[in-house]
Amino acid sequence: MTAAGPAESPTTLTGGAAPRRYAASQPPDARPTWAQVDRDAIAANVAALKDQAAAPALMAVVKADGYGHGLVPAARAALAGGADWLAVALVEEGRALRDAGVDAPVLVLTEPPPDAAGALLAADLTATVYSPGFTAALDAAAAGAGRRVGVHLKLDTGMRRVGVPQADWRDAITRVRDSAALRLAGLWSHFAVADEPHHPFIAAQAGEFARGLALARSLSADYDMVRPGLAVYGLEPAPGLAAGTPLRPALSWWTRLSLVKRLAAGEAVSYGLRWTAPRTTTVATIPAGYADGVTRRLSNRGQVVVRGVRVPLVGTVCMDQCLVDGDDLPLAAGDDVCLLGEQDGVAVTADDWASWLDTINYEVVCGIGRRVPRVYVGAAGAT
Ligand SMILES: *Cc1c(COP(=O)(O)O)cnc(C)c1O
Repeated sequence: MTAAGPAESPTTLTGGAAPRRYAASQPPDARPTWAQVDRDAIAANVAALKDQAAAPALMAVVKADGYGHGLVPAARAALAGGADWLAVALVEEGRALRDAGVDAPVLVLTEPPPDAAGALLAADLTATVYSPGFTAALDAAAAGAGRRVGVHLKLDTGMRRVGVPQADWRDAITRVRDSAALRLAGLWSHFAVADEPHHPFIAAQAGEFARGLALARSLSADYDMVRPGLAVYGLEPAPGLAAGTPLRPALSWWTRLSLVKRLAAGEAVSYGLRWTAPRTTTVATIPAGYADGVTRRLSNRGQVVVRGVRVPLVGTVCMDQCLVDGDDLPLAAGDDVCLLGEQDGVAVTADDWASWLDTINYEVVCGIGRRVPRVYVGAAGAT
């Protein structure tokens, strides 16, 4: 033990002032770590995006558990805000919407395995098609069920992830046209650099898409729809990208200090003793850790807000707990801690996390663990 601190001044627990509370509460017997999701913010964001979009229809993307906000409540709030369609990545996500009684049109953005074609149809989801194999499987499943179903053909205009490669567009359109039970109801593509509005590749892809649309026009209705995802939840897909659209983050993430102590200079904390108090200071324990999405890479790096002040996370983030250095703040066990969001006008944003972690804000909200209960406020889409 090299960092145990002076023997005469051991760590002591402190009583501190009365706890400070800011966020909607959890029941007193529940775990005091939760994410608060404002359904009204989601609805208002959808309304603002629809207002600004050049296209008349809006498809709200609710994949990945509504970007961590909760699939069904996010979907209902988006529909309450005026979304015409919903989009998911997986058949399983679409089926969960149906099981919850959501009956709006739902597009599955990616082809599932061919064997899942029947399940997709049974859940009344709309398929995206691009490969000959899945198109044939879906056609057979629809014909077997005695149905004729609309499909959306995804053209690859340059992202080169999924979609029909340019050389195969004519074949793919013809394949749907000549199928027994499929109807071309939509044509769509995906920009590779949508977060850089002035990138020349956007115009190149748009030009390619226009070419594909012209190719398909003899068969298809003109579909005009935008497909926002992250912006639905009030976050900017890239810094400054949503300037002019009044977006409001729907999610904030809260916990409460579980233990507050005074440390003497030289005393170190947590696994590996990777942070040593440089002075006498107040260190507090937070009951949230990497199993909740407070990733271990935030060790000695991130910040949270407590008593309206940004304080640093110190030491190694553990599975269920982490620590902050409160310096001389009058911290008390039970104080509300804002992990993401705003307290007394002081914010910690998903973009802050993204910069600490060298990632994007998308990964931050999608990374909040399943163990963290989502608490819903706001009436939009509530049942
Ligand atoms: C996720 C997704 C979207 C939404 O993307 P955002 O960047 O969150 O707006 C739109 N289209 C497709 C195909 C997607 O996979």
